[in-house]
Amino acid sequence: MHELSIAASIVEAVTESASAYPGARVIAVRLRVGALASVVEDSLQFCWELASEGSPVAGAKLVINKLPVIVHCDACGVDSELEGVQSFRCPRCGELAADLRQGRELEIESIELEEPEPNESKRMESETDKPDPVEEHI
Ligand SMILES: [Zn+2]
Repeated sequence: MHELSIAASIVEAVTESASAYPGARVIAVRLRVGALASVVEDSLQFCWELASEGSPVAGAKLVINKLPVIVHCDACGVDSELEGVQSFRCPRCGELAADLRQGRELEIESIELEEPEPNESKRMESETDKPDPVEEHI
């Protein structure tokens, strides 16, 4: 399964990046996936769960940001988004536009981390220390 190896390599890359932040928990991983990357989203989500299980990334959400195909047309000199990926023709003039500018991406855009909260107990203390203004007036 193609998606499983992709998922495994994402888990590996994220685990490595997250290791720079000891104690932090990975909440979400955002991916940029081009329309031509031939990735089946549902399948990748499923494989993500399998691949991340038991790893430091387990439980993190995989957010897939799909990118449309963008081609550059030499005739018009503009970049256009293609509706489908069946024909690589410029939507403006109909010329063949095989100069792919976007659509093959398969990369990690960002990783969301939850920092460990050493201040949590401190914050709770200050909250309980605060006098309740309503009670004072009564
Ligand atoms: Zn054109």
